Order: sequence, then C-alpha cells, then structure tokens
Amino acid sequence: MGKSIYDPVSVLPSVGEKRLEALHQLGIFTILDLLSHYPFRYEDIQEKNLLEIEDQEKVTLKGNVVSEAVVSRFGPKKNRLSFRLVIDHAVISITFFNQPYLKSKIIAGEELAVFGKWDAKRKSLTGIKILGTASANQDGGDFESIYRTNKGIKQKTLFDLVTKAYQEYHELIPETLPDFLRKKYRLVSHQAAIYGMHFPATEEQTRQARREVIFEEFLLYQLKLQSLRKKQTASGHGTQIKYDVADLRRFIKTLPFELTTAQKRVVNEICNDLKEARHMHRLLQGDVGSGKTIVAAIALFAAANAGYQSALMIPTEILAEQHMESLSQLFDPLEVRIALLTGSTKAKERRILLEELATGQLDVIIGTHALIQEDVHFANLGLVITDEQHRFGVNQRKTLRSKGKEPDVLFMTATPIPRTLAITTYGEMDVSVIDELPAGRIPIETIWTRPKNFEGTLEFIERQLQAGSQAYVICPLIEESESLDVKNATDIYNNLSSYYATRYRVGLLHGKMKPAEKEAIMQEFKENKLQVLVSTTVIEVGVNVPNATTMVIYDADRFGLSQLHQLRGRVGRGHKESYCILVANPKSETGIERMKIMTETNDGFILSEKDLELRGSGDLFGSKQSGLPDFKVGDIIGDFGALEAAREEATALVNQPDFLTNPAYHELRQAIGLENLTGVNFN
Ligand code: ADP
Ligand code: MG
Repeated sequence: MGKSIYDPVSVLPSVGEKRLEALHQLGIFTILDLLSHYPFRYEDIQEKNLLEIEDQEKVTLKGNVVSEAVVSRFGPKKNRLSFRLVIDHAVISITFFNQPYLKSKIIAGEELAVFGKWDAKRKSLTGIKILGTASANQDGGDFESIYRTNKGIKQKTLFDLVTKAYQEYHELIPETLPDFLRKKYRLVSHQAAIYGMHFPATEEQTRQARREVIFEEFLLYQLKLQSLRKKQTASGHGTQIKYDVADLRRFIKTLPFELTTAQKRVVNEICNDLKEARHMHRLLQGDVGSGKTIVAAIALFAAANAGYQSALMIPTEILAEQHMESLSQLFDPLEVRIALLTGSTKAKERRILLEELATGQLDVIIGTHALIQEDVHFANLGLVITDEQHRFGVNQRKTLRSKGKEPDVLFMTATPIPRTLAITTYGEMDVSVIDELPAGRIPIETIWTRPKNFEGTLEFIERQLQAGSQAYVICPLIEESESLDVKNATDIYNNLSSYYATRYRVGLLHGKMKPAEKEAIMQEFKENKLQVLVSTTVIEVGVNVPNATTMVIYDADRFGLSQLHQLRGRVGRGHKESYCILVANPKSETGIERMKIMTETNDGFILSEKDLELRGSGDLFGSKQSGLPDFKVGDIIGDFGALEAAREEATALVNQPDFLTNPAYHELRQAIGLENLTGVNFN
C-alpha cells in the first residue's frame, strides 16, 4: 500500500509508544493531524539593531561569545550564569538565572544567538533561552514555532516530527478548497499554508498561511451545518399549515395594538415557513419586552385555523400561567380552544385534558415540562414553540417534537445572541429578529452606585413606593457565605423589612423554596400585597409585573452583562418611568466596564456583543458544552470577516445543483463527511 496523508503518526521514525500516547493526547492521530497541529505563537528571532530595542522588549541577539560563562551563587538555591557577547563592536552582558547547565553551550569565540529580555539602561539581556549557533539554526527561518504540547513530548521533538512529516508527505496534502474560491480570496495553496504555519520566514508568510487555514476551517464548518440544514428543510419533509389568510388578518386586527414593523416582518417570515411543505426550524430572537408573545400567538392561531394542534412549552409554571392568561384573552374561545398543563394540574383535570388533546378537541396546549410526559398524546401536532429555548435541554425539545409527525418548530429567546454567535451556532437554523421595541416605551434609567450608599438607595426605593410603584431587589446568594463577600438575600430581606417597618411589605423569593411557596409569593407581589420583592436570580426570565418600576441589583459586578440586562427587563413594562440601580464596587477593569456599559445602553444586542468582547470568546465558550465549535486557528470575533465570507460561500455551494456530484467538490464533500449525513439528528 502506498503512503497516505491519513497514515498513523506511528509510521514516523522515533515515535515509540510513549510519544504516540503523548501525541494522541494532543489529538494527533494521523500525519494530517500532525501537520494541522499549528504553532500557537512564534518567537521572533530576527536580529535587531541594539539601538532599536525597547526596554523590557523580548528579542534575539546574535553575536560572538567573548569569554567563557561564569556561574556564581547568590542565595541558598539561586545562581546566575553570565557571559559577554560582542555585537557590532558593542559588548553586551547576558545573564541566565538558575540554568548553570547552559555553561557547556557557551564557547568563547563562537557565534551564538540568545533570546531574552532587554534591559536598556544596563545594556544587558536576561536570557530566556539559547537558540544555538547561527550555523546550527539551519531552517533559515527567523521565527521559532512554539507548539501546544504536553509532558510526554518536547517542543523540539514535536517540531522535528512536523518537519519530518512535511518532508515525507507534503505532496499528499489535500487541497480541499475549490480553485475558484482560492482565486477569489487570493488564498495560497493548503500545502503552502501548512509550510507557512510551521516554517515561516516572514510575518507576511504566516499571515497568508493563517488566512488560508482560517478560511478553510470556517468554510468546512459552515458547509457541514448548511448541508445538514438543507437536508432537514428539503421540501416534503415538514408540515404544511394552510391557514386562511383573511382569517389571520382579521385576528391580527383584533389585537389591542398595532404590530411594530419588526413584528410584522417576523410574522411574515414565520407564516411563510408554516404554509410551505418544508420543515420550519427557526429561532426568534427579541429583546425583553419586544413582544414575542404576540408573534407566538399569531402562529398558534394560524395552526389552529388550519386544523392543526400546537404546543407552547415554557420553562416555569409562573411564566406558563402568565402566558395562559394573556393568550386566553387574545383568542376567541370558540375559534381557538386552549388549555394549560403543568405539574400542578389536578389529576382529574389532567385526565380530561389529555383526553381532549388526544382526540383533537384542544387546539393549543401551553405548559411546562409536563408536556413531554409519556402519556401526553396529540391528535395532530403541527407546530411546536419553545419559549426561552436555552432553558430546555436538546432532548426535552426533541421529545416534544416527536409527539407530532414532523411539526414545524419555533424557538424563542430573549437572550440576544450576538450576530457572530448566531452565525456560527445557529448556522443550521433560520433566524428572525425583533430589533425594535413597541412605541411609547419609556427607556429605563440605569444608575450605578457604590454599596456604601445603602441609605440613599433605600430612600430612592421609598420614593417610588410612595408613588404607588413596586420594587425588586436582587442579590446573588441566599444565605451568608463565608467565602464570598457578597450580599445575601436573607440579610437584605431582614434589613429592608425593618427599614420599611409597617409602611411597606417586603417578600423574599429564592430557589430553595418549594414551587408552591414561590408561586404564592409571586402572586402576592403581582397583586401588590407585597411592595418590595427581595429575590435571588430565580426571578430572571419573563416575569411581568408592570407596576414594578425599580430594579435594584446588589453586587451587580458578579453578573454577566446579558444577565443584568435580563434582570433589568423586569421593569419598564408599564407606563411609568423605571429605574435600574446597580450596587457594586467592582475591583477589576472589566467589572467597571460592565457597570458603565449598562448605564449607557438599553440595547440587548449591543450588550451581548460587548459581553462577548469583554469575556473573550475563549473564556466564555471554551468549554465543549457550549456547543460552539472549537476552531484551531480562527477566532469568531477577531476573524469575523472571514466567518461571514465563509458562510456566504457555503450557502452558495450547497445550493448549487451539482454540489453533490461535481468532481471539483469531491475533496470538500469528503472533508465534511457528506456520505455519513444520513441519520444525523440535530436540534
Ligand atoms: P417579550 O418579547 O419579552 O416576551 P412580551 O411579549 O411579554 O415581550 O411583550 C411585552 C409587552 O409589550 C406586553 O405587555 C405586550 O402586550 C406589549 N406589546 C407587544 N407588542 C406590542 C405592540 N406592537 N405595541 C404595543 N405593545 C405591545
Ligand atoms: Mg416572553
């Protein structure tokens, strides 16, 4: 058998069991894996003019060793090794700390290159490593490649293996990108890119190499997502919901307000999906208060009108009841028969309800996880909507879908996902965005104050209470914690209760309470029997109490921007001026930055972009659970332009009629494992 780029790395000389194990741990199995294990940085070993070097800069200096190295001790376990180097007639002193064994490498009269940190005042270099003599550095490159590695394998060994693999296999490196894309984006060949990544001679060479590698990985990822999606939405696979357009228009006219332009647009997008035979798989994004419920209501109406049943799944009972309340008001009970199913539904009521659902007497069912229990059956489920989709697991969403025969699916979320992420993670979904709030909303005023101003905050709240409004007070923890100096809900609750004494009633809500207790407290707050609600973040999503105008968040710097924004969205839901007070004493720069941004914008999309920027994509999404792809070189923020271009090209490619047959795309198809697509189930 001939050589293949997919040969196991063990074919290389000097890869024994131990090294093989170490390589496997790095995710390197084949020669191609090894060649795609790129350096994560380069050390610039370009020689510099001494006068150009800045203080504390890391540089490589090359010169002739004047004298043998001297090792001296200066403490029980410390020693320094010093010698001198002549560079362009200047004599430089070089010191290495605690590396006495380097002595043998420093030979008077020989040329030597040393990488280290420059001290401009002393005209000396603190050595970091010896790069060897100039003649030994035969790769000719002026950069040294630095690899991610582990205990079992050294930098140098890894580099030698890569070099060997390149020498032996470079002709077999697959050129996956079609020529026309390479021309269009002026990308070097993949072979050249791999060379440039490992053995660059100039910065420009690494730049060109990176461009090619990044574009290829982005394109392959997008192609994979989009070909999956194309399969999923292929006509004939979904439910065709043929509602009566005139009926739908009439229903929309009965709504208590006119839809915003953004709402009209997304309603059109959704309705188009519904009436097509292909499968709807759509994400509806809209900031808190942007009016997603009404959009869902229109879709539910359309399904009922066409004779299909639909289900709306909601993460908590409180919210499910809230939705039940507002939707029943919108639907004429003769036209759309609607019911609520939660964990608290009484056994007898539940039995009747399940019976009606199974026989098709009910059109719309709203509910919590109770909807996915085994004995829940539908007569003809045509549409599934999930609110706050991130609160449900993939399997839960799938279970609900499986109760119908290919129902259309709509996911709703109030957590704005930055465009960057929407493109990468939801590349396989259609995305609708409500990017406009209903007219007449008074923007929430956000104030950042320090914890020492406790009295001031309480007085501020009291003025709102005097005006007949209500307030939320959010704290990160329930009980006192010794390890964290953060406000706890119980403490704050006690403080506020005694401060407002008999004037106002204060309630406490937290995640350790039983659902029934939580419901009861929430209900009292809704009915204004409680004026102040102290809570942990269980209050977070969707709760609607329009009379609440003040949101106080303690230790606000402990929350991410998106979460702060969600919390803030609990107020500003009525016609009164609303306030969000962030109480925080942030210690870090990003903490301060977060507080500032919150006071500057109410736009959830801007905030989510900022959130990502401040945390960095690596930080936030490094973990595998996030569902975000782990790109080798590309960065979804830094290389956003390439990501967008790759997405466009992927769309164009999968839509080409001969994408699956044209030999020009063979490498591409192979790279995304297209032949294995059947049976892949994604959600
Ligand atoms: P969210 O997108 O956060 O779920 P909701 O659907 O709860 O938002 O809507 C928030 C409030 O805005 C509700 O009281 C709703 O009745 C109201 N609303 C929705 N759409 C409009 C509109 N076009 N004009 C005026 N008010 C609207
Ligand atoms: Mg909502």
